[in-house]
Amino acid sequence: MVFLLGVAGCDPPVAVLSAEVESAPVTPAPEETPPFDPEKLAEKLTGIQPQWPDNSFPKPPRRRGIDCARIRCVALTFDDGPGELTGRLLDILAGHQARATFFVLGRMVAEDRGENLRRMVTEGHEVGNHTWNHLPLAQLSEKALRYELTSTQKIVRRLAGIKMTMMRPPYGATNKRVAAAAAREGLAQILWNVDTLDWRDRNTSLVTQRATQATPGSIVLMHDIHATTIDAVPAILDRFAQQGYAFVTLSELYGVGRLVPGRGYTSLGDGKRGIASSEIP
Ligand code: ZN
Repeated sequence: MVFLLGVAGCDPPVAVLSAEVESAPVTPAPEETPPFDPEKLAEKLTGIQPQWPDNSFPKPPRRRGIDCARIRCVALTFDDGPGELTGRLLDILAGHQARATFFVLGRMVAEDRGENLRRMVTEGHEVGNHTWNHLPLAQLSEKALRYELTSTQKIVRRLAGIKMTMMRPPYGATNKRVAAAAAREGLAQILWNVDTLDWRDRNTSLVTQRATQATPGSIVLMHDIHATTIDAVPAILDRFAQQGYAFVTLSELYGVGRLVPGRGYTSLGDGKRGIASSEIP
């Protein structure tokens, strides 16, 4: 499912690997020079110790043996955080033994000072790179594009001790250059096949209704920065649980270590191999 779509007043159109365009406030044009050094910032946040706060990195729980080829799985994904509502969402997910994937923004991680990031890791969620500034990557210079990915890799590694293996391009906007940059960083490109449009319709029942249209193997796009989305999550979890779904991370959906850097993935239904960068316009 690869086709062209214009993105929010941007010209020329960029490739979008999804039926819908993820949207969020468009940030100003990228600067060529990174505004600051994420390593230095992380150092400031963590003091002289590279670890936080008791000289240890958060430890993930044991891996679960879930085979999504045999049971119903759904991968809930939350973008653009961590924000002030993320803690409440983590509580709700914990109450349902649900695991999800968070595509975090580097600048939000910096603001959050790693607190929610640590919880995500210790509670078994997966963390993916959603860039530092949420800019349309396909339109950036090579340098700015690389910076968007590497700075976010660095701060997450510094604060949580993990190396992210997946990214989600803002707005789902990607092309060969973005695919190549993602591949260089060791990141698979995760898109989605179910869009709740929760950024546009701040309506809990609509978000619930759209999310629960997911079928086995779906990747559902949501944002943990909207209260209406967080409010929808208990009903979404209940509805899927009644149908026997397991709530899985992306690695659980595809199999640990199976995601190929640079390739694009929209759902398990598209196959485990993903979309090759040569197929991306
Ligand atoms: Zn986003």
